[in-house]
Amino acid sequence: MFSYRHAFHAGNHADVLKHTVLIAILRHLRQKDTALTVFDTHAGAGLYRLDGEYAETSGEAANGFLKLLSSINTPAAPTKKPSAAAKSIAAGLAPVIQDYLDLVASFNNKGSHRVYPGSPFIIQRLLGERDKLKLFEIHPTDAKTLSANIAQLEAGRQVAVLREDGFEGIKKFLPPPARRALVLSDPSYEIKNDYARVVAMVADSLLRFATGTYTVWYPLIPRPEAHDVPRKLKTLATKSGKKWLNATLTVKSSKLTADEAGEVIRPGLPASGMFIINPPHTLKAALQLALPQLAEILGQDQHAAFTLESGG
Ligand code: SAM
Repeated sequence: MFSYRHAFHAGNHADVLKHTVLIAILRHLRQKDTALTVFDTHAGAGLYRLDGEYAETSGEAANGFLKLLSSINTPAAPTKKPSAAAKSIAAGLAPVIQDYLDLVASFNNKGSHRVYPGSPFIIQRLLGERDKLKLFEIHPTDAKTLSANIAQLEAGRQVAVLREDGFEGIKKFLPPPARRALVLSDPSYEIKNDYARVVAMVADSLLRFATGTYTVWYPLIPRPEAHDVPRKLKTLATKSGKKWLNATLTVKSSKLTADEAGEVIRPGLPASGMFIINPPHTLKAALQLALPQLAEILGQDQHAAFTLESGG
């Protein structure tokens, strides 16, 4: 059985990137009146406690969401030669980052930041009355927690929790009834096969429904399969004649280091990316402003960086 539990990672730098992009896309898609169906193929538990055992053990939110939050409450001391990103932050946070912070804040009492919404709750919050959300979660414990969390929303038939494999389960829903869909695929990549399966799922989905917006989160770690994901998605999008965007955020070096006793220190997740097929036309400009700010605020060493490529 899987050992990955998103509760350890909730609010980390990868969530900041993923959820900022997700919110920006949903805001745009919601501008049209036609009903939208959103699929979250790897949903997780839905809601997380940042003061809970899991998050406190890993401390990952401290270098992600909480760091972003404290940077706006305590702006950096002025330096003689501020970077372009530092100057842009001083002029104001990018609207998509501010939107992300405001949305997370809306799950908390004023001034508190105990609760961190996962993608199911972020998406549900942004849906219109006629929109639908399909959540897939295969881990029995997380699926149970997700169902219980979703039940509290009393969202009725708007939100469905499916305890099944998201890569396969999505097939039966495409194309969606009103022919508008957003797919978020955020595997844990605990199984090596996930790297190939996520690309195969997007390829199959594009054949079933070519005009959907497809978003894939992937880790940028030193293993070839991880680098294959954006490379293969680029080829797929290009061959299908689709526009695409690829946004990456690096917060630190991926090199192994050693402590004083010579013990190897693994860096944890150094970087990740979001690949989007059929992105909203406004997304590139929004991320051009946001990514340098995220790299500046969340960067942990001189390797902090971002990239934003597009095509199609
Ligand atoms: N999307 C969530 C968010 O942003 O809040 C986080 C999801 S977490 C990275 C990945 C989740 O996928 C885990 O909860 C894991 O149990 C689940 N999972 C793993 N393989 C799966 C599969 N084939 N189908 C559905 N869920 C799966």
